[in-house]
Amino acid sequence: MERQTAIDIIGLEQCTSCYGCDNACPHGAIDMTVTTGGFIKPVINEACTNCKACQKFCPVIQGNDRSKFNLKENLFYAAKSKNQAIQLASSSGGIFTELSEAILDEGGVVVGVGWKEDLRLEHKIISSKEELALLRGSKYLQSEVGNVYKEVRKELRSGKKVLFSGVPCQVAAMNLFVKDNPNLITVDVVCHGTPSYKPFEAYVKQEFGSKEAVDTVNFRDKETGWETFSVKYVKDGNVLKSEQAYYDSNFWGFVKDYYLNSACYDCKFAEERPGDITLGDFWGIKRELHDKKGVTVTKINTEKGKQLYNCLDIYSVATTKEESTKQAGFKGAITNYPKESYQKIREIMEKNSEFKFSDISPYIEFAKKPTFLQKVIRKIKNIVKVLIFR
Ligand SMILES: Cc1cc2nc3c(=O)[nH]c(=O)nc-3n(C[C@H](O)[C@H](O)[C@H](O)COP(=O)(O)OP(=O)(O)OC[C@H]3O[C@@H](n4cnc5c(N)ncnc54)[C@H](O)[C@@H]3O)c2cc1C
Ligand code: SF4
Ligand code: SF4
Ligand code: SF4
Repeated sequence: MERQTAIDIIGLEQCTSCYGCDNACPHGAIDMTVTTGGFIKPVINEACTNCKACQKFCPVIQGNDRSKFNLKENLFYAAKSKNQAIQLASSSGGIFTELSEAILDEGGVVVGVGWKEDLRLEHKIISSKEELALLRGSKYLQSEVGNVYKEVRKELRSGKKVLFSGVPCQVAAMNLFVKDNPNLITVDVVCHGTPSYKPFEAYVKQEFGSKEAVDTVNFRDKETGWETFSVKYVKDGNVLKSEQAYYDSNFWGFVKDYYLNSACYDCKFAEERPGDITLGDFWGIKRELHDKKGVTVTKINTEKGKQLYNCLDIYSVATTKEESTKQAGFKGAITNYPKESYQKIREIMEKNSEFKFSDISPYIEFAKKPTFLQKVIRKIKNIVKVLIFR
């Protein structure tokens, strides 16, 4: 009989790398493996009995109908923590930390994404506020989810509250495991896609000699501001390099959609949000609400999300859907991306396991470094901005 696992049904191109099938398989028949293209995908091994259990936990097959849970009208806020240290250490306004602290105060646990030892990412379960620093901040790579959906189910069965956070396809997978448990709060981030590990690792090698030379990267360092953030490479607490994101070649390639997972170009989880709460950067926020330390656009999707959000002691101003949802990650599939370059870069990455970042850079249109005069003009503009917003 023809094998009918989840990945056989949807194919590698549509697979979001969410780990739903891997957590569901009762026979240990799925190995989540980094492909030659640098994305984590399921590979089926000989233990497969063709029981089809994985199909029931694949959000691409099961879809993302949230009509039973969603509020009739979603609520939108411009929000930020009252604690400036939290705000500065977070990617936008620090609302993820505020929600997490509320759950930890009730004896619950928080699940989010942190660095592993091999400069890859994983979902971690934490139970103290001290550990929150591990999860704070956006990390623009795919996370190894491991057995976390099953672990969350165990925590809930033991009566604990759980806040699970991730990109929307991961939250959709989480929902399939736990249906409507009142103790599970899910937070999805506005997400325009996750990139391949390959360009990132090749770039680190090019800049620092080897992958081992770096142990963490802060993709959203605010020393140069929230909207003008920098990418900071760190080893043992020492900063190796910090550069404004526009001039970090790997980051630029990510943000301009040159090497995202193929499923992200047809994302099924952006318009109807799977989380109780959705968090993003409030880019383009109006002047009265602007804060150069960062503001989170917060969308409340369910009654459960509303109850938790209303308990927070934060700065929060109600805003409109129109003002909040100008960005790609809220709107669904990315249609306007550099298709020809994307195909070429994919070909190079898939064929050549030892490729260098310079092999793909001719296909990327980089941001131009400003001339001295442009830098001076920008500085003057920034000073004027600061004076106006003060
Ligand atoms: C891959 C990715 C793409 C994003 N794209 C956009 C975008 O296009 N537009 C936009 O407005 N916002 C985007 N965001 C969200 C935004 O960067 C902030 O995460 C959000 O504003 C919340 O910020 P915060 O200050 O409240 O808390 P923070 O502490 O900054 O929040 C961090 C949260 O992100 C989660 N997270 C971090 N890295 C990953 C990862 N690799 N995979 C899954 N979850 C992760 C953590 O678990 C935590 O929940 C993206 C985030 C990620 C992770
Ligand atoms: S054993 Fe069942 S759940 Fe596991 S991969 Fe095969 S069909 Fe899927
Ligand atoms: S989308 Fe998720 S559940 Fe479906 S095949 Fe891919 S990793 Fe498995
Ligand atoms: S864009 Fe969609 S498919 Fe891609 S990581 Fe984000 S939620 Fe998942």
